Amino acid sequence: EFIVGASMGISLYPSDGEDSATLLRHADDAMRRAKKSGRNQYQFYRAEMTEAAQVQLELERDLRRAIELQQLELHYQPQFELLSNVLIGVEALLRWRHPTRGYVPPLQFIPVAEDSGLIVGIGDWVLREACKQLSDWQSGHAERFRVAVNVSALQFERHDLVESVSSALREHHVNACWLELELTESLVMRDVAGSSLQLQKLRDLGVQIAIDDFGTGYSSLAYLQRLPIDVLKIDRSFVSGMMVDPDSVAIVRAVLSLAEALGMSTTAEGIETVELATTLAALGCATGQGYYFAKPLE
Ligand code: C2E
Ligand code: MG
Ligand code: MG
Repeated sequence: EFIVGASMGISLYPSDGEDSATLLRHADDAMRRAKKSGRNQYQFYRAEMTEAAQVQLELERDLRRAIELQQLELHYQPQFELLSNVLIGVEALLRWRHPTRGYVPPLQFIPVAEDSGLIVGIGDWVLREACKQLSDWQSGHAERFRVAVNVSALQFERHDLVESVSSALREHHVNACWLELELTESLVMRDVAGSSLQLQKLRDLGVQIAIDDFGTGYSSLAYLQRLPIDVLKIDRSFVSGMMVDPDSVAIVRAVLSLAEALGMSTTAEGIETVELATTLAALGCATGQGYYFAKPLE
């Protein structure tokens, strides 16, 4: 059985164009928007759609050269053990210093990097850079210090991720146990059989696996139990909701006891106040990060 859907873009003569080429191009922009907004719908053309498409194209063009022009940087957000307030590691967060736009936020350029495939090269750079930094720290006074790196969908789905992780570790003489890879829930659950294999290979290298933004995707609990996962990162939306919304507290409690039952550790994201830090510690959350402790730092 095949179920066919359609995404449709509509442009009108003469307001959206006076010749067929322009009308088709604009209908195409509108169709792309319809796909982006979830498919199976129609969109009428609006001038902003061309502007948005233009910005995407420019970002993609500039991103192609960002690595060689050394415009990419990693910033590091500290992570703390909540009970003891001991610094245990950092999450590496990518920054793009654009020559004219200033810092472009990752939520804006990572989707562009994904769509264009550029994320594969960028992700490799991130892994190597993070391992280099880790090795610097460890040869200083921080032997027991971990770095978490975000891995994108396209990177994860490629067969050579394991090779690129292990070569980054080898190149900088870093023990794999201090590297944590963060994958999102929806990414891991998309193809559970494939993910399971890939995760197991990464685990065999010795790296830690964390599920980022946990609670915002659609995890199958049955699969969660079977996948080799070390850490659940509780999404910021639940953490920030805890002070005002009893439901958020209930969800956080549930995630904490789920993690405990499955033998996984927990990290809370987006801790902005001392109250949140103490509440989460009291509820049994092992580690946390957030503006209360520190913003991502150069
Ligand atoms: P994420 O991995 O969930 O990272 C946490 C985000 O929350 C970061 O945003 C961080 O700056 C922000 N944050 C941390 N603490 C607080 C807080 O207390 N309050 C608030 N309001 N925000 C806080 P950022 O750096 O803009 O990164 C956004 C997303 O971009 C990341 O979400 C991650 O999914 C993605 N990303 C960042 N670096 C990389 C990378 O190297 N590779 C890939 N594939 N994705 C990356
Ligand atoms: Mg993350
Ligand atoms: Mg997150």
